[in-house]
Amino acid sequence: MAVTESAVAPVGSGSEGARAGHEDERAPARREYEGARSAHEGILRRQAARESAARTYARALPIVPVRARGLTIEGADGRRYLDCLSGAGTLALGHNHPVVLEAIRKVLDSGAPLHVLDLATPVKDAFTTELFRTLPPGLADRARVQFCGPAGTDAVEAAFKLVRAATGRTGMLAFTGAYHGMTAGALEASGGAGDVRVARLPYPQDYRCPFGIGGERGAELAARWTESVLDDAKSGVPSPAGMILEPVQGEGGVIPAPDGWLRRMREITAARSIPLIADEVQTGVGRTGRFWAVDHSGVVPDVMVLSKAIGGSLPLAVVVYRDDLDVWQPGAHAGTFRGNQLAMAAGTATLAYVRQNGLAERAATLGARMHAHLRPLTEEFACVGDVRGRGLMIGI
Ligand code: PLP
Repeated sequence: MAVTESAVAPVGSGSEGARAGHEDERAPARREYEGARSAHEGILRRQAARESAARTYARALPIVPVRARGLTIEGADGRRYLDCLSGAGTLALGHNHPVVLEAIRKVLDSGAPLHVLDLATPVKDAFTTELFRTLPPGLADRARVQFCGPAGTDAVEAAFKLVRAATGRTGMLAFTGAYHGMTAGALEASGGAGDVRVARLPYPQDYRCPFGIGGERGAELAARWTESVLDDAKSGVPSPAGMILEPVQGEGGVIPAPDGWLRRMREITAARSIPLIADEVQTGVGRTGRFWAVDHSGVVPDVMVLSKAIGGSLPLAVVVYRDDLDVWQPGAHAGTFRGNQLAMAAGTATLAYVRQNGLAERAATLGARMHAHLRPLTEEFACVGDVRGRGLMIGI
């Protein structure tokens, strides 16, 4: 986030030589500013004293948000910030978009129950209808949706459990640099974690290509590596229950997978009856320039894990998968919080707004423009190694 301006301008020392009248005029603004500043500092101090050492963003961004709209957050210190983080990819329409607020208010005013386990409701029905409308053709016609716990990591766990049940196998294939969440199974599949049941394969990239060449050739070698691990009986990797990948790695450093490599992963997994799981928790809902990031390549995954933006800024996660994988027994994957009505209403409004207003195409256009302007920074500043991404999912 970047500080843009002070909503309550801090007043300079102003003592020497300042006219007394002028001083008095500015006194209320100064008091207001100082009051806000002290509230802000007190909240941050209490947070540091009371909250877990595991807190993350709060360390790097010492701000106390009190209001937000669109791209702008206002802090308790009266400062305004440009939010380039966008709720870690959650806010497809920015903060507090009117259509989202209106959808939430409508549910609240209607007297609808806010907690319904996994029961059917008109709000949920509308969400599922809108979600299915956006899915890649080929999956939409045969899709099933499971409402799991509300975080992205819950959807990843559910997807692993599903493909394990469907294939009768246990191992998973995942990629270097991957991030799929913080619960045990998702963490295993994330790069940097100690692997238990996960075999890790090279994710293609130009900047730090594992083969030192990048480009199409680097991606081709990464694909061949995957093939050989699967086909060599002595690779040490038994036939897996599934392969999970991010079409653009997010936490791994905003690394877009080449479309050709993604299609290869689709062919390789299809030929070996390995379900392909696309983790679109961070890439979904228009951010990369297509509604789903897999749409760039035309790849139709067997399973998609979705969260973040699908809840229109509120917690919601789902697993969407082809109907023949739906081998679960009733109750095979349950949970108390699977029916967040407010999140579904906010999510429906967000999905519909993005679709109806062509916001994915807009992200592609704006992203290309931003990329063209940011790219030269690599030549200007030694500390800028690379500018990459897809659409408006950009990393520097
Ligand atoms: N998958 C991807 C690709 C993510 O980027 C994240 C979070 O950043 C997750 C899964 C986990 O989502 P959550 O933090 O909601 O558990």
